Amino acid sequence: MKISHIEHLGIAVNSIEEALPYYENVLGLKCYNIETVEDQKVRTAFLKVGDVKIELLEPTSPESTIAKFIEKNNGNGGMHHLAFAVEDGVANALAEAEGTGIRLIDKAPRKGAEGLNIAFLHPKSTLGVLTELCENPNK
Ligand code: ZN
Repeated sequence: MKISHIEHLGIAVNSIEEALPYYENVLGLKCYNIETVEDQKVRTAFLKVGDVKIELLEPTSPESTIAKFIEKNNGNGGMHHLAFAVEDGVANALAEAEGTGIRLIDKAPRKGAEGLNIAFLHPKSTLGVLTELCENPNK
């Protein structure tokens, strides 16, 4: 597959409202978008660092994978996933990854925040790093 850049870093937080003062007041970053992704039961907040984004993920339900991640992490948030932008489409990248024996979480691309097509590779196959592939279909 062809990766053009790191699209974003996903960070789990208990509360976006509690996390933003650190990112905005201490690090001096600016949140430019807050969006709920019903499908994933998360609220997301985006900040930009150069061309790379930071995606804060707050669970909207105890069923959310982010809620489970925080629970496993003793109630704390933390680094959750690494997202790469692929140039040849997420579906192609998934097929290619699967062809090399990588375990997929998503067999097909789905809609993520900011209108991106996204899919996750299983951390058991990616040396422990939950990996997201994305593409902007409007580009
Ligand atoms: Zn993400």
